[in-house]
Order: sequence, then C-alpha cells, then structure tokens
Amino acid sequence: MKVDWLIIGAGYSSCVLAERIATQLAQRVLIVERRDHIGGNAYDFYNEHGILVHKYGPHIFHTKSKKAWDYLSRFTEWRHYYHHVLGVVEGKKVPIPFNLNSLYALFPPHYAQKLENLLLEHFGFGVKVPILKLRESASGDLEFLANYIYENVFLHYTIKQWELKPEQLDRGVTGRVPVYISRDNRYFQDRYQAMPKHGYTEMFRRMLNHPNIKVLLNTDYREIINDIKFNRIICTAPIDTFFDYMYGELPYRSLRFQFDTLDREYYQEVGTVNYPNDYDITRITEQKYLSGQTLPKTTLVMEYPQAYVPGKNDPYYPIPREENRELLALYLKEVDNLNGTVIFVGRLAEYKYYDMDQAVIRALGVFEKEIANCI
Ligand code: FAD
Ligand code: UDP
Repeated sequence: MKVDWLIIGAGYSSCVLAERIATQLAQRVLIVERRDHIGGNAYDFYNEHGILVHKYGPHIFHTKSKKAWDYLSRFTEWRHYYHHVLGVVEGKKVPIPFNLNSLYALFPPHYAQKLENLLLEHFGFGVKVPILKLRESASGDLEFLANYIYENVFLHYTIKQWELKPEQLDRGVTGRVPVYISRDNRYFQDRYQAMPKHGYTEMFRRMLNHPNIKVLLNTDYREIINDIKFNRIICTAPIDTFFDYMYGELPYRSLRFQFDTLDREYYQEVGTVNYPNDYDITRITEQKYLSGQTLPKTTLVMEYPQAYVPGKNDPYYPIPREENRELLALYLKEVDNLNGTVIFVGRLAEYKYYDMDQAVIRALGVFEKEIANCI
C-alpha cells in the first residue's frame, strides 16, 4: 500500500489533519489506530440503555476560538449546553469554580458578606484568581479564605488526581479552575459552549468520510510500519513510545472509569459533582446532562485516578511540571534530528495538557504552517 501520509492515532488531532490533507491537498492518508474505534479519548457511543456515554470520561466542548468553532461546525450540529459542577465541601454541595455563591453556601451571611467585600476590594468583580495566587496575596480574613478553599477544594482532589500537591504542578493546572469573583455558576465562561448533537464519534465519522482517507483500526502502527509505503508521518501517539522510550518513560496519569446505570430518571442536580475530600473518586458525571436525552434510566461515570503503567492502562494526562519538561526536551531534540519527516501533534505526542479546542487549533495551525505551506 502506498499513501502520502501515515497518521498514528485517530483522535482529534489526527481527524483534523486527515480531513485537511485529504480535502485541501487531495493527498492520500492512512490512519492507524490501536483501539477498535475512531475519536481518541473523545469517543462516545450509545450504551445498552440508549444513553450516549463518553468511554474515556466526560468531554464538554467549550472554546473562545471562532476558528475552532466554525471548523467543527462543518461536521456537526450542536446542542447548546452550559456545564455546571458542584463540589462537596463539609457535606454541602457548592458551585465549582468556587465563587461568591459558594461563599454564601458555606459561611454565615454576615461573614460571607465580609469576605465578599474583601475579595471585591482586592481583586474586583468578575476577576478570576488562581488558588495559588490567592494564597500568596492574601492576609487576615482573606488568608483564612484562601487556606480554606485550598484545603477543602484543591488539596485532596489534586493529591487524588495527580498524587502531587497543587504547588508541585505547574500553576496552570489548578489555574484551570480559578476562584471566580462572580455569581456565574457555569464551569466555563467561553463564548462557545455546546455538545455535538449526535455525539463526537459521529462528528469524527463525518470528518473522515472521504475517499482519500483510509482507517485501520485495532492496529498498533509498529505492526505495519514496515509494510506501508508513505512519504511522511504524523504521530499523535505518546512521543516516548515513538522513540522506544530511549530516554525512559514520560510520566502520564491514568484513570479507571466505572459506569453505573440506575433505574431512575436523574441521580444528581448537575452534570458533575466533585468529591475533593471523600472517597477514592474525584468526580461523578451524569451523562444525560451532557447529551440532553429524556430517558427513564440514567448512566453515571465515576473517575478513579491511577498511575499510568504502559501496556496495562491508557495515558490520559501529561503531568505538567518542570522535571517532566526536562525529559520531554530530550525527546524534542530527537524530533529535530528527524528533519521534519515526522510531525508530532496532540496531547500525548506533544505532552501538553490540551483541551479539545486547543487540539483543533493546534492541528489547524500545523496544517497551515508545516504542511500546506511546504508543499
Ligand atoms: P487522543 O484523543 O489521545 O488520540 C490519540 C490516539 O492515538 C488514541 O486514539 C490512541 O489510541 C492512539 N494511539 C496511541 N498509541 C498508538 C499506537 N502505538 N498505534 C496506534 N495508535 C495509537 N477536553 C475538553 O475540551 N473538554 C473536556 O471536558 C475534556 N475532558 C477530558 C476528560 C478526560 C478524562 C480526558 C482524558 C481528557 C479530556 N479532555 C477534554 C481532553 C481531550 O480528550 C483531548 O484534548 C483530545 O482528546 C486530544 O486529542 P488527541 O488527538 O491529541 O489525542
Ligand atoms: N481541581 C481541584 N478541585 C476541583 C476541581 C479541580 O483541585 O474541585 C484541580 C485539580 O488539580 C484538577 C485541576 O484543578 O486536576 C484541573 O481541573 P479540571 O476540571 O480542569 O480537570 P480535567 O477536566 O482536565 O480533569
């Protein structure tokens, strides 16, 4: 078999690049995917109860980028959806990201009012303050509040999720869920927030539906790489795998997902409830909130963080911290030695904590700058 491009993996990064190369350059692409489906970690399917579930954990689409939104809108219609998250703190369910409503849910009104005034004075209304920044800049009652939020919302959740404390990770990790001096209970504030009306997998199916694109499932690229003729490779698989772990394994975090279907219409008040301090799970997501389906049963997914062990489970999260970037730098030097014959794109291949929209933006950028421009 002879193709122009061999693409390793069939997730977001791969689907965007395959679609662009096939439709804009009229070149032939072979996608090789180790799993039995397309879509990568955003893969979803209808379970035996007819509920649309996300096999690898809840995926909520949100972006500020009109470019990413417009691009994906060519392959899916959308169901507008604002994700809401509650966190269980001292037995009460409070809005996450922690905001002014969370304050009033946890403290007596006069004290909550005092804390609100202090937050407004120091930062102003509508401002998002990462917890590590709040802890540094606070004194007096604000220092108490910062420590309270750190201890009750972030510390134990982060230890469960990463086996590290918040300050042992890049600040951007806990900064994803900043304290929000506002009464907006939505998890995200991006302009575009929606779920693909017929699911992510259907959207990917439409992206790949082109005569120039072939997909080989259930195949590790290493099994076939010597049997295929191609000009260039795009790798969306983990970068350390590609280089046969020559500098050792890059650490990733994994998760175990437990799905339960209950014989009742709804289980919880919102899409996701976080359990920072209780149990081994970090959160429970009720899939029907994400899909908007009306059905008599409901399916929940519980997330149990795990160490990643190659060959045993899947790498889901790069672990953003300095020492891992140093190891990554060694692999990036090897990438340079390949003189552009292999392009590394995506969350695993670049070892970057990309959200879906960032994966799309990055893949479109790679297409424009490193592929279309060079042909
Ligand atoms: P992937 O989707 O990981 O695709 C890589 C593909 O390569 C996989 O299919 C893998 O099987 C395949 N592969 C690996 N090795 C090989 C090999 N040797 N041979 C062949 N194939 C191989 N983003 C959001 O925007 N919103 C969310 O709510 C959200 N929630 C998330 C929840 C969880 C639990 C996780 C893990 C991620 C979440 N994300 C979310 C991030 C989102 O999943 C990623 O941004 C996106 O999937 C990245 O796409 P990708 O193509 O880079 O990687
Ligand atoms: N986080 C936390 N408590 C929460 C929510 C988030 O400590 O209630 C921290 C935790 O370290 C987590 C990070 O913020 O890994 C990012 O959270 P996000 O919900 O963005 O994670 P993802 O959806 O990517 O798993």
